[in-house]
Amino acid sequence: MSKDNTSKPQEFQAEVGKLLHMMVHSVYSDRDVFLRELISNSSDALDKLRYEAIAKPELLEQDARLELRITPDKAAKTLTITDSGIGMSAKELTDNLGTIARSGTQAFAAKAKDAPELIGQFGVGFYAAFMVAKEVEVFSRKAGAKACNVWRSKGEGTFTVDEAEKLERGTRIVLHLRDDAADYLEAWKIEEVVKTYSDHITHPIMLVEEGGSRQINSASAIWMQPKAKVTAEQHKEFFGTLSHTSEAPALTIHYRAEGKQEYNVLLYVPGERPFDLYDPERKGRQKLYVKRVFIADDAALLPPYLRFVRGVIDSSDMPLNISREMLQNNPDVAAIRKAVTNRVLQELKKLGESDTATFAKIWETFGPVIKEGLYEDWERRDALFEVCRFKSTTRDSVTLKDYAAGLKESQTAIYYLTAEDAAKAAASPQLEGYKSRGIEVLLLTDPVDAFWVRTAMGFEGKPFKSVSQGAADLDGIKPADEKKDEPKDTPETATLITAFKQALGARVSDVRASKRLTESACCIVNDGQMDRTLEKLLSRQKDSGVSVSAPVLEINPSHGLIKALGAALKAKGASAVEDAAHLLLDQATMMEGEVVQDPAAFARRLDAIMAKAFG
Ligand code: ADP
Repeated sequence: MSKDNTSKPQEFQAEVGKLLHMMVHSVYSDRDVFLRELISNSSDALDKLRYEAIAKPELLEQDARLELRITPDKAAKTLTITDSGIGMSAKELTDNLGTIARSGTQAFAAKAKDAPELIGQFGVGFYAAFMVAKEVEVFSRKAGAKACNVWRSKGEGTFTVDEAEKLERGTRIVLHLRDDAADYLEAWKIEEVVKTYSDHITHPIMLVEEGGSRQINSASAIWMQPKAKVTAEQHKEFFGTLSHTSEAPALTIHYRAEGKQEYNVLLYVPGERPFDLYDPERKGRQKLYVKRVFIADDAALLPPYLRFVRGVIDSSDMPLNISREMLQNNPDVAAIRKAVTNRVLQELKKLGESDTATFAKIWETFGPVIKEGLYEDWERRDALFEVCRFKSTTRDSVTLKDYAAGLKESQTAIYYLTAEDAAKAAASPQLEGYKSRGIEVLLLTDPVDAFWVRTAMGFEGKPFKSVSQGAADLDGIKPADEKKDEPKDTPETATLITAFKQALGARVSDVRASKRLTESACCIVNDGQMDRTLEKLLSRQKDSGVSVSAPVLEINPSHGLIKALGAALKAKGASAVEDAAHLLLDQATMMEGEVVQDPAAFARRLDAIMAKAFG
């Protein structure tokens, strides 16, 4: 059917509309990448067909050629990208080009207007075509099917899908270039862009000119080349296609495994955080090839905590007709996953020792994700501990090995404090007793920390111990300043504690003299299973069944205020310290970054005490 018999225009999904708006207005400075995105889609379509044709050779019809063609037409001002790949049905044209399937991208697109500079980070995909085209037509015929269809849009909120004249298998994308994009009709320009961004694409990319056509990419699978032969530029280009960015990777891992299983590995750790790093699906980014034939990009070749690692693993001895559904349970894949995971951790460890600056950047970007492995991958916990870096009360970055090397004599545990951010952690009164004894405390401020540290068995025989959970066991270690180690359990303290317990009732689970405080009058800690940060995190999740429990109030018997309250109690009786008990608990709660349970009562008590002081 011809163009004048057009179907009803359909609306784009709202997020696509927003994305298109940005594309049309070219907020993205590097327009050349539109070609990379279209070539990458075509290459994927060729890969998919090649894979499907292993089981169903008839899909290749009479024409087994798998190639990409780029045809500039100066007279018509069109640039056409053709592939003989898998193609799309009418429904797929509508679904794939009218909506955004990837959830991370969808989330980004929904708020893209607020952060247009981020767009380069997440792969703009097909819609990048609208940076250079005022109208885009996508002609397509699915391999093995008869129906030919064309998708059309001017990028202004709607698109149409119609039947088309007879087509060859695959997809033909016609870009009606905007006047300011006429450059892309020049052979030199097309060649330059292809060389820069798509040289490694394994299918031939043919430039069609008047006199005939010629291949303009080298079409070498760079992961199959010897490591020494691949330049940094080539890695950058290949990584660019995988990650949709123009950055160089922070770490490149390239090797051939030989032995029982043979395979080539080319993996990259990105320098930037991918947009969907925290997408709940936690999908991996590694592509599985068998003898240079693309098999799948969802074979979970690395565990979820290494999901940010991108690249290719190409097996030399797995069967080509391996079914995608079977990949999850395939023993060859499992063996590769195991070996490659170990290798990645080993490379990260090595980098941490040889190039601390680069490693520090990777750790800052991906550390919270890598630490997910500490509670998911028990088998590799020790290997992970060698990679992990922590902040502590005395150092900006410390490994557990470093920490263990600095243990005080008779220190029996690795002390840590979990908190929601570094500032809160550093200000915690719970740290005082440790600081005064020169004991280093790890400051764990990522949400994931509260989870793994509970299940970790310890390191080099020393258990992990929270400084805000349970009673502090600091008796064996003397403080630098002996005076601060006055006896804590005098009869005055005991009566004050009884009075406080009575005043506070169910607001606390206990009141006791603290061994961890030296400067502050009081603090709160948890007894029992969970430390407070974890309890707070869990209580915010629906259905967790966890609520924040009544804390233990610890008071510092050496503190002037506590001594004065003890004296007041003796002289005037329990009612004299009641308000003070509540105020101290409120104050300790605030120090934890929590809100006071009853602000009105807090204000009333504070007023009463100030009135006494100033009245
Ligand atoms: P992505 O490629 O990251 O999934 P795109 O927006 O670029 O996102 O493309 C959306 C989908 O459209 C692709 O996943 C693919 O299913 C389909 N598609 C795009 N280009 C082609 C093509 N040349 N041949 C077949 N399918 C294609």
